[in-house]
Amino acid sequence: MTSTHAFWLAGRQVTGEDSFDVTSPWDDRLVGKVSVPTDAQTEEAVAAAYAVREDFAATPAHVRAAALDHVSRRLVERTEEIARLISAENGKPLKWARGEVGRAVSVFRFAAEEARRFNGGEAQRLDTDLGGQGRLAFTRRFPKGVVLGIAPFNFPLNLCAHKIAPAIAAGAPIILKPAPATPLSGLVIGELLAETELPAGAWSILPVPNDRMPALVQDPRLPVISFTGSEKVGYAIMDSVPRKHCTLELGGNGAAVVLADFASDEDLDWAAGRIATFSNYQGGQSCISVQRVIADTSVYDRLLPRIVAAVEAQITGDPGDDKTDVGPLVSEDAAKRVEAWVDEAVEAGAALLTGGKRDGASYAPTVLTDVPADVALSCEEVFGPVLTVQRADGEAAAFAAVNDSKYGLQAGVFTRDLQTAFRAHRALEVGGVVIGDVPSYRADQMPYGGAKQSGVGREGVKFAMDDYTYERVMVLTGL
Ligand code: NAD
Repeated sequence: MTSTHAFWLAGRQVTGEDSFDVTSPWDDRLVGKVSVPTDAQTEEAVAAAYAVREDFAATPAHVRAAALDHVSRRLVERTEEIARLISAENGKPLKWARGEVGRAVSVFRFAAEEARRFNGGEAQRLDTDLGGQGRLAFTRRFPKGVVLGIAPFNFPLNLCAHKIAPAIAAGAPIILKPAPATPLSGLVIGELLAETELPAGAWSILPVPNDRMPALVQDPRLPVISFTGSEKVGYAIMDSVPRKHCTLELGGNGAAVVLADFASDEDLDWAAGRIATFSNYQGGQSCISVQRVIADTSVYDRLLPRIVAAVEAQITGDPGDDKTDVGPLVSEDAAKRVEAWVDEAVEAGAALLTGGKRDGASYAPTVLTDVPADVALSCEEVFGPVLTVQRADGEAAAFAAVNDSKYGLQAGVFTRDLQTAFRAHRALEVGGVVIGDVPSYRADQMPYGGAKQSGVGREGVKFAMDDYTYERVMVLTGL
């Protein structure tokens, strides 16, 4: 019999009255049962976080840094076990799941480092203008209040880490809500935090069902909402609480541009390999996976067969197998949606070069060309292992094609020319431009987030800490 996983209420492991099943998208086996907090338990967590907020903000930096370092070290020790858990509940191939644990290790380590540096204070002389003689301004950052962190299913450990680690580093209490399909990886963070000296109430991890989330979102004791997930849910949350501070990390349809100067056999092999890997990693269920390739006409005919060959070389199958590159999507419904979008594109005249087949929750790595501009595959985020390839006549046309999207998360530009790199940086309406690689590169300390409908605000440990806090100035007079 599978035991029921408790959740974390103000640092304590607690069970509620109901529970739900977490199953593997690969073989439907039961991975675990998760206890759901009652309304009264959720209230207790919020009240505890609210009550501790001033004390937590005043907790010495070395205490918060030590706790974050501890979690980082314990993640290293438990890497294999946690990677297997991520793989089981999410369907992510083991090798990618291990990589995800490694990234969460870094997020907690960066947060420990930032906790030591943060809020040192900055002095500014005010006698540079009339009336400022004898005055000095001194600024420090203080938490805005308790953070409500809401995480998606696709990086079930690391995106929970990106909410909770910066909050602890900044001295802001947090209520973290993991995704319903993948709550177990987020709950593991609680096991590691419970081993630390952080004050009770500073953190809770609550798998609250979606239909009970509006009450939490509306709660005035939670002034900061840090959401990562779909555009639809993210904007609905922000629209429902226009006076709260909302960070939204939303979707994208990442483009990789291959320009005319990236043309040697070696260059094109590298670009094709990276594109194939990162249109399919996590089954394409990454907000910055490659969905669109925009290739200069001069390299298109040599690049396309390389991409198709590299995509066909991806090993699909059991996510628990060390060799597997591409596992199932998060659910059969998700795979059926991808199937419907590919079928729609083909019916509208697109050419299917490889893939296009579904088996349960698995969808074969797929490449299409000549995809009409008005089908879902061109306009929306596919969130599956599907790649469209198109030509562009020159750099300006390629950049215009990237920008021809409601999204703007990241873009990759394969070029060796520095001037072109700077032009791309200026021209592309995205949160990040990756030169010489796919858009899927993310380092966890760098500012990360979207332009246009890919989101509002930035994550990346230090940037999330800025988001959770505000600058308060003190003016000293008579100096
Ligand atoms: P989702 O929007 O369905 O769910 C995200 C979270 O919101 C989950 O925890 C869910 O339970 C919760 N939620 C659902 N309804 C809610 C409500 N009414 N009120 C409050 N919370 C609610 O997204 P998903 O399917 O889990 O994740 C996939 C999406 O996340 C994709 O669009 C992807 O691009 C995006 N994503 C973005 C980033 C980024 O950093 N920009 C990173 C990863 C994923």
